[in-house]
Amino acid sequence: MVAIVIGLFIALFVYMDARKRGYGTLGLILWSVGSAMMPYVILPLYFFLGRKNKDRVQYDGNDIIDIEAIVVEDTINCTKCGGEMKEDSLQCPHCQEPTGTDKTDINH
Ligand SMILES: [Zn+2]
Repeated sequence: MVAIVIGLFIALFVYMDARKRGYGTLGLILWSVGSAMMPYVILPLYFFLGRKNKDRVQYDGNDIIDIEAIVVEDTINCTKCGGEMKEDSLQCPHCQEPTGTDKTDINH
């Protein structure tokens, strides 16, 4: 009986903590139900894997932002001849016009 109460408390704690860390519904159910069933197994696992996993999710988010930035700013058009060139090019490959430092003005 006591074990069930402890399990429920741990499940509640894991549920609240996982929700703060941005887990989806399925992740919340899996972690909280798992920790209610096997608190001494799942709770250390949650601290070890669950929180680590959240860090990895944040890194994935940064990767996605980087990829989008590359896709959007991969090529720019020359201000002089309008030809395409790489965003980080120092000068236009078509007319050798040096690219300005205010690249944001070219894109918008
Ligand atoms: Zn050019």
